[in-house]
Amino acid sequence: MRPRFPNSGVNLHLRGPDLNANKINIAIDGYSSCGKGTLAKALARELGYKFIDSGAMYRAVTLYILNHNIHPEDEAAVASCLPHIRIDFAVNSSTGRNDVLLNGRDIEQEIRTLRVAGAVSQVARITAVRRFLVQAQQAMGREKGVVMDGRDIGTVVFPDAELKIFMTASSEVRAQRRYEELKASGADAEYEEVLANLQERDRIDSTRKDSPLTMTSDYHVLDNSHLSREEQFEMAMEWVREASLGG
Ligand code: C5P
Repeated sequence: MRPRFPNSGVNLHLRGPDLNANKINIAIDGYSSCGKGTLAKALARELGYKFIDSGAMYRAVTLYILNHNIHPEDEAAVASCLPHIRIDFAVNSSTGRNDVLLNGRDIEQEIRTLRVAGAVSQVARITAVRRFLVQAQQAMGREKGVVMDGRDIGTVVFPDAELKIFMTASSEVRAQRRYEELKASGADAEYEEVLANLQERDRIDSTRKDSPLTMTSDYHVLDNSHLSREEQFEMAMEWVREASLGG
């Protein structure tokens, strides 16, 4: 389904030998619920690249440890689980979405709950978890042609990514969007609770010792508080064109 990102014409001249011959990796980092995944998916679809939601991988580890009654701050116990965790992505035949699988089971719905959102940033602070997931993410990007969104993609996972985008928006705008998504999916959520959760995740993600959410001078900043999806997509495609042509 593409109607949200109609072909703007901007990208028509991007198709063809130059783009195909010169695949790049695209890193999209930023605060929680900024629309990173939405933009990443649209770019991947347009370019024929792989989309990887790195947050889903941290959420999958979190779901595993919660289901095994392990405390998210018990670093040793969390680390000891890692050899038992296998994370894959697979296209869901009924929705067409690229769902995340935990040990072969589709957990796409379960990882979007506030139960998981409330613990994931604690788990993501643990160095053993980060090493485990970063290694897998780097392997996925070896052949290029990947759009990956997260918090440390341009700083740690793909420091050499040809295009790095840092997305941000006011926390109220982000909470409202997330709240509407949760409601639409039938979840029982309060706006205040969603706002508090994303502010707390931003705080933990930006201040943790290992791979904090941060931006370097080689990022393009995209503040989308007042931008439509189409406008964001067109800006990003312009950056893709520059990066692919080595500009
Ligand atoms: O992107 P999403 O909101 O699903 O990520 C959930 C959590 O996973 C983030 O709040 C952050 O704590 C962690 N995360 C991370 N590094 C990434 C992606 C996500 O620490 N690359």
